This record gives sequence, structure tokens and C-alpha cells, in this order.
Amino acid sequence: MFKALVLSKNDDGVSSEIQEMNADQLPEGDVVVNVEYSTLNYKDGLVLNGLGGLVRNYPHVGGVDFAGTVETSTHADFKAGDKVVLTGWRVGEVHWGGYGQKARVSGDWLVHLPEGLDTRQAMAVGTAGFTSMLGVMALEDQGLSPEKGEVLITGAAGGVGSVAAAILAKLGYDVAGSTGRADTHDYLREMGVKNIIGRDELSEASKRPLEKELWAGCIDAVGGTTLSRVLAQMKYGGSVAAIGLAGGNKLDATVIPFLLRGVNLLGIDSVMCPKERRVKAWNRIVTDLPMEKLDGMISQAKLQDLPQLGKDIIAGQVRGRVVVDVA
Ligand code: NDP
Repeated sequence: MFKALVLSKNDDGVSSEIQEMNADQLPEGDVVVNVEYSTLNYKDGLVLNGLGGLVRNYPHVGGVDFAGTVETSTHADFKAGDKVVLTGWRVGEVHWGGYGQKARVSGDWLVHLPEGLDTRQAMAVGTAGFTSMLGVMALEDQGLSPEKGEVLITGAAGGVGSVAAAILAKLGYDVAGSTGRADTHDYLREMGVKNIIGRDELSEASKRPLEKELWAGCIDAVGGTTLSRVLAQMKYGGSVAAIGLAGGNKLDATVIPFLLRGVNLLGIDSVMCPKERRVKAWNRIVTDLPMEKLDGMISQAKLQDLPQLGKDIIAGQVRGRVVVDVA
């Protein structure tokens, strides 16, 4: 038997309850993992609140990522005792996820934890931080380097933003961050943000298709008007890694920055990201994300805290990363 936070759907919407479950109830898969830690991502907030149509079948166990130890495996790449991390593959949406003490999944979805990262640290990074690393790698693939100029992070005090700030600062970039929360300024400076920009400065549509060239690169967690505004402010040849939609999923922009400044808009998907790139990203996290900064981003939670935290993250009220100890 093991504990899980089980979501059910009724006339009033989605409700949750911690239940004792039997391992036979777990969905199909060739690897059973004893989950040690999960975390809270924006998408988990949607699932916990029954938003976005992400979950089709109830009862459901959410948690889009987890880290733990393999209990049993018939998959060639994994054996009992292996430390593993899982993000994406629609786990926590269409397949039961990490908000329980056990999970059964396909071994194709798992990555061995890299040397130098334990299960708690892996979930402090979580999907949000892993995706930040994918974003940084995509910007580098387009030729970004520190001497090209300042890199902007939107939604800087959130999970994606905080990890991106710590990585970029470690790599020697001048980091600018936009935030709507004045009480996060000291925190953002600790994460490595040198230039703090008010969210309002970017949330109004640009009156011109091109503005002053400000940013060599951008990690965008916000989308919407903010992204269209940022496109108009990119330096010649600069790239934006489009990661999130915390501020909206509509993009009302002109093509002028692409045509006259050679700006690149790079789509970042962590869910179906190929295994080889996942392994590369996790290895880069070990070398390029300072662990003392990661410690400064974490707040700790239990399964019973998740219903409230799910509301908080949708309201944009979660700072940094939340690690969920499922014990
Ligand atoms: P968080 O809630 O932790 O961070 C989002 C941040 O965006 C907030 O902290 C806030 O930052 C800012 N924000 C919130 N609401 C608004 C608003 N209305 N207008 C402008 N800014 C706003 O979420 P995560 O970091 O976990 O995820 C960020 C985004 O990235 C989400 O949309 C998520 O779905 C997406 N995502 C995408 C992935 C992919 O594979 N492409 C993977 C992981 C996440 P501040 O307070 O500093 O202003």
C-alpha cells in the first residue's frame, strides 16, 4: 500500500483527497519507481484545479514530474536501485504522475539521475528548471554568448524564470528580469538578475513594430502581449526562447522583427523532447546551475499542501520552486 493525492471529478468540479492505494491500481508500465520527491509546476496548478482540459479520465494522480528509486523493472536500461528522474511525456496528465509514493511508467520516459544531483535537487529543478535549461541551450544553438549583450527573462520570479536567472548568471551573462512583484527584487538579485524591469513596462502592446534594440536573447515564461513587445525590442540576430504562457497564449505581433532584424522565435517543448537532449540538459544542469542558488529558490511542501499551492501558482503567487516530499 502507498499514499497518493487522488483527484476526482464531480458536479462541483475537481476535488482531491489523500488515499491509501494498492500497487495493482497503478497504470501500465515496465518500471515501478518509489517516488521520493515531486514538485509543483504551472501545469500541475492547472491539473489540480481541473483547468485546461488536460485530464480526461478520473480518478487521477497528478504530478508532471518526479524523482525516486527504481523498485522493479523489466526495461533493459533500468534495474532495481537506480536513481531516476521523469519529466513530461504527459505524465500527470494522461498517465498517473508523481503525487504518490509509487509510480509505474514506461522506462523510455525515465532518465538516470546524473552524478552530482540527488532526488531532492532534481525536483527542485523539476520540469520548470529543466525547461529553462532547454531554453538556454536553444539560445546557445542560435549563437548567443555573453558578449552579445543582455539577456531578458520574463516572469523572472517564477520557477522557469528563477532557474534561468541562476544558469545565465553562472554562464557569465548580464541578466535582466521582468517581474510584477516588487517583494521579489532582493530575491531576484540573489538569483543573479542585475537589471529588474517592471512587468507593466512590457505588458502594453508596442505602438511600433520595432523599438530600441535592448536584448541579445530572451527566456520568455509569459507569452501574450509581453512576448510581442519583447520581439520588437530584440537586438539584430537575437533569439527568444518561447517557454510559457503565464500572461496569455495569444500572440499579436508583426513579422517586422523577423524580416528587418533577423530575430528568431524558438519554440521550447519539454514534454516530447527527445531522450538524447534530455540527458544533455540534465548534465548541463549539474555543471551550470549553482546548487547554493537552487537551495535559495526552494520551499518545501507535502502532498496535503498541494490543493492550496495549485491555486497559488495559477494566481502567480509562487516564488521560485516548490519541492514536494511525498513521504
Ligand atoms: P510560475 O507560476 O512559477 O512562473 C510564472 C511567472 O510568470 C510568475 O511567477 C510571474 O512572475 C509571471 N506571471 C504570472 N502571471 C502573469 C501575468 N498575468 N502577466 C505577466 N506575468 C505573469 O510558473 P512556471 O515557472 O512553472 O511556468 C512558467 C510558464 O512556463 C507556464 O506558462 C508554464 O506552463 C510554462 N512551461 C512550459 C514548459 C514547456 O515545455 N514549454 C515547461 C514548463 C513550464 P513575476 O511574479 O516575476 O512577474
